Amino acid sequence: MCFQLTFKVEESFKHKAGQYVSIKIADVPDSICFRAYSIASAQTDSHHFELCIKVVPNGRGSNWLNSLEINDGIEFLGPLGELGFDDSKSNHIFISTGTGVSPFRAIIYEELKKGNTQPLHLISGFAEKKDELYKECLEELKSKYPNFTYDIVIKDYVTTIIEKLDIASGNTNIYLCGNPAMIENTTTLLKEKGLPAKALHLEKY
Ligand SMILES: Cc1cc2nc3c(=O)[nH]c(=O)nc-3n(C[C@H](O)[C@H](O)[C@H](O)COP(=O)(O)OP(=O)(O)OC[C@H]3O[C@@H](n4cnc5c(N)ncnc54)[C@H](O)[C@@H]3O)c2cc1C
Repeated sequence: MCFQLTFKVEESFKHKAGQYVSIKIADVPDSICFRAYSIASAQTDSHHFELCIKVVPNGRGSNWLNSLEINDGIEFLGPLGELGFDDSKSNHIFISTGTGVSPFRAIIYEELKKGNTQPLHLISGFAEKKDELYKECLEELKSKYPNFTYDIVIKDYVTTIIEKLDIASGNTNIYLCGNPAMIENTTTLLKEKGLPAKALHLEKY
């Protein structure tokens, strides 16, 4: 199960699409820890950001966040991280598993709103159909912007789609986010297909 949270920040908060925040998990006062969550929203104003969080069974951070009530306060560090849009190439493929789609939602939304007309393609993998995230939002973007396309992969390996990708022109950036095993397998495959390391942008959960 996944849930979404929107936070209002008292001071001004500006982030680059693709970044994350590190949240202080304050369930046990004497044993504080931090958990990272990608910002799922683009910069709309300077006071809000959205997260999409998967409830991990017995997971300390995700269950504590799921227990928050409206108007509860949190502390966090950020924005953090280097994942972001790279305009040095003109074709862009975003590959995610699960909530790894969040930073790509932010990046794609921001680029389209800015008027980017380059091909932006998202491949978003989920364990089951009921786990799908942001389907309506992606469909709306696809109908408005012809340069945005997406595939949702259910109960399949995202890597089977990657085998078919044409990256031969050398003009493609690939962005990976989510499950570490998917990222490792995909990175190996893409390197075998000749993708240069600097065309690869990744965030492992
Ligand atoms: C840069 C970055 C960005 C991230 N962004 C997001 C995000 O946007 N949304 C999001 O939901 N998560 C995101 N994560 C993962 C997140 O930081 C936590 O690791 C996750 O929420 C689990 O934390 P927890 O405290 O609930 O579980 P923990 O208490 O840390 O773990 C409990 C148990 O669950 C296992 N476990 C941990 N994670 C998973 C998992 N994903 N699936 C199944 N079992 C697991 C652990 O091995 C452990 O046995 C991100 C991680 C990084 C590094």
